[in-house]
Amino acid sequence: ALTIGIVGLPNVGKSTLFNALTKNDVLAANYPFATIEPNVGVVSLPDPRLGKLAEVFHSERILPATVSFVDIAGIVRGASEGEGLGNQFLANIREADAIAQVVRGFTDDDVVHVEGGVNPKNDLETINAELMLADLQTLEKAIPRYEKEVKGKKADPSVVEAAVAAKDALERGVLLASSGIDLTPIRELGLLTAKPYIYVFNVDETVLTDATAKAALEELVAPAHAVFLDAKIESELIDLDPEDAAELLASTGQDESGLDQLARIGFETLGLQTYLTAGPKEARAWTIPRGAKAPQAAGVIHTDFEKGFIKAEVISFDDLVDAGSIVEARSRGKARLEGKDYVMRDGDVVEFRFNN
Ligand code: GDP
Repeated sequence: ALTIGIVGLPNVGKSTLFNALTKNDVLAANYPFATIEPNVGVVSLPDPRLGKLAEVFHSERILPATVSFVDIAGIVRGASEGEGLGNQFLANIREADAIAQVVRGFTDDDVVHVEGGVNPKNDLETINAELMLADLQTLEKAIPRYEKEVKGKKADPSVVEAAVAAKDALERGVLLASSGIDLTPIRELGLLTAKPYIYVFNVDETVLTDATAKAALEELVAPAHAVFLDAKIESELIDLDPEDAAELLASTGQDESGLDQLARIGFETLGLQTYLTAGPKEARAWTIPRGAKAPQAAGVIHTDFEKGFIKAEVISFDDLVDAGSIVEARSRGKARLEGKDYVMRDGDVVEFRFNN
């Protein structure tokens, strides 16, 4: 499964956030035999449609889609030179498919700030500089190797072109993700600043309820997505029943928990979408890459569904809920039979027809 790596300077609240993520533990609840690495936190993707489907189909249980987060300890100033847990850190972050960077916005005199004071802009620059330096080192090593390969006709010249363009961008202080350079020829390098980023501002209640302050922080990271949360409150929310949690959230001016926001934005940043299935056993969301076609979507349930794919019977969620049952949706002409070139849409409720 695709994962999002959590990074950030020490003392910004990563462990606090990560504990909240792991306490949530949807996997343990739904897949009791799944083994989870200790540094992985799995959260469910909030989707109110599943509850509705479960009502229509009298489903015994609900299985939401999930998003996995990996705790990547160890970024400090100098990480790109092997400072701290430098090398291990770089290896872990390279494996992540997207990065959630936690930035401290809370003030607390009891919690030391490693860079001397709470300054989100400065912290972002420190981390981004380390990541850019790491990428520069990777490229400086790779370019001579690629040049040799191109000379020996073992590689396409586009490889050298992309690597040189990337190096130039980094030297100008541009993150690769916002450079506009096509990095597909050098994807194997796992360049850190080319990954999609989410910024998680760990802030006080005063900032959570202050739209102007949030807009200023958002501007620092645009066009990347920003999530605002209070990691301490998030870890308290997890232990509350839904009503009390909603009340606590409302008291901080929010209608969705930070973890839910993070799951939603993380899922989107990974380039994923869901489709839905429903029956008396379960109402379930399945994860597919955005733009996947029907057979590929079927393959997520079972490889046989993909191999023997015939048709997908698709009803949009809204039509199905309006009709109140599949039979009624069919008689209203709302059930479509789609073939192998059908591009799945968000909110499709699907039943696959296949040969085996
Ligand atoms: P890490 O080094 O980034 O993993 O940071 P920790 O999660 O260990 O947090 C460092 C300290 O800051 C701990 O004492 C936390 O209790 C505290 N802390 C974390 N999040 C918040 C927050 O949102 N508000 C306040 N006031 N303290 C926090």
